[in-house]
Amino acid sequence: MKEIVLIKVGEIVLKGLNRRNFESLLIRNIKNSLHGASPCKVTSAQSTIYVEPLHDDADIDEICERLQKVFGIVALHRAAVAEKNMECITSTALSYLENYLDGASTFKVEAKRSDKKFPLKSPEICTQLGHEILEKFSHLSVDVHQPEIQVTVEVRDFAAYIHAGVLKGAGGVPVGSSGNGTILISGGIDSPVAAWMMAKRGLRLNAVHFASPPYTSQRAEDKVVRLLEKVSAYAGNIKLYVVPFTEIQENIKNNCPEELFTIIMRRLMMQISQRIAEQTGSSCLITGESLGQVASQTMQAIVTTDDAADMVVFRPLIGMDKEEIIRISRKIDTFDISIEPYEDCCTVFTPKHPRTRPVLKYVRKAQQDGNFEKMTETALENLKVINISPGKL
Ligand code: ATP
Ligand code: MG
Repeated sequence: MKEIVLIKVGEIVLKGLNRRNFESLLIRNIKNSLHGASPCKVTSAQSTIYVEPLHDDADIDEICERLQKVFGIVALHRAAVAEKNMECITSTALSYLENYLDGASTFKVEAKRSDKKFPLKSPEICTQLGHEILEKFSHLSVDVHQPEIQVTVEVRDFAAYIHAGVLKGAGGVPVGSSGNGTILISGGIDSPVAAWMMAKRGLRLNAVHFASPPYTSQRAEDKVVRLLEKVSAYAGNIKLYVVPFTEIQENIKNNCPEELFTIIMRRLMMQISQRIAEQTGSSCLITGESLGQVASQTMQAIVTTDDAADMVVFRPLIGMDKEEIIRISRKIDTFDISIEPYEDCCTVFTPKHPRTRPVLKYVRKAQQDGNFEKMTETALENLKVINISPGKL
């Protein structure tokens, strides 16, 4: 029996004239997400996208698992394909759904007939198929209000499709439909979640990570790569730029007031990230900051950090509690990696008493006195670039 996946698209339906562009972008993203899985043909018709495996032995579980991470998809159905006549629809439904129906006690049939030439109307399809199901599975009864199983028959242009059950899609809008953004990624819990949230709203991602060897280790950098591989299962390929930050951090330590170490470091991170974003076609920066979470994320500290960049900075976690952030990080499978105990450059040279209410003009002056211009250029000349694609499922 031939099985395919029917995809129902979400918000892109609302986008009027842009709809066609959105849909072709979504189809491209779907094809990319299936790279390396069993080969499939991907087509669209009547606001449904069809993913049709080319071989009988295709791993449809894996195909669905990948499709569930593609933003812009609201729901998907695994469906059996039947010829467009009642005999074939009935026999296909009875054998395809056997296990489901065996284990249930109530059901209902719903029919959608987009091919109006099909001789039976929807209610007639429901009655006939319902009757056959009751005949074969005599323990079942019909419940039109709250059935345990809803059997759906979709009679479309080229075939009929039968399914019972729905898989939830990732929602959001297709990656790339909102442009490009640059995520400042640490090895922590928050920034991978922030990256995922903005990819969900259609941003294609670049990433910047600041590394300060020997204070931070290669293993800390590898951890960031593994985190981005998880994000990439949703966001598509990501280019990671690793910034050599040691000289700048040592200079902060040697030449800036201790209580401003962190805030000056964060301003330099924003400035360097903005330069990378500009050079690589991104129009915004993204961080994992959440208001009040740590000393560098008080309102005044964020204002002082934000002053360093001209580019818009998205902080999707700003109003979220740690609990809520952790829930998402578990869902996207980054949590266990994030809690591995490798040091981040943010925890190198941390002041004993960081300023929680920094005054902008003093911070600007202290940064100016530190003469970071040349070091910033040197760091930008020595970026390491790593191409990230989805890790193994
Ligand atoms: P996270 O869990 O994402 O590490 P955090 O709560 O530990 O966040 P901070 O360490 O203050 O917070 O960092 C705030 C934000 O700054 C991070 O979410 C991230 O966007 C950025 N950031 C921190 N360290 C780095 C780094 N080494 N490289 C790039 N960006 C960083
Ligand atoms: Mg951190």
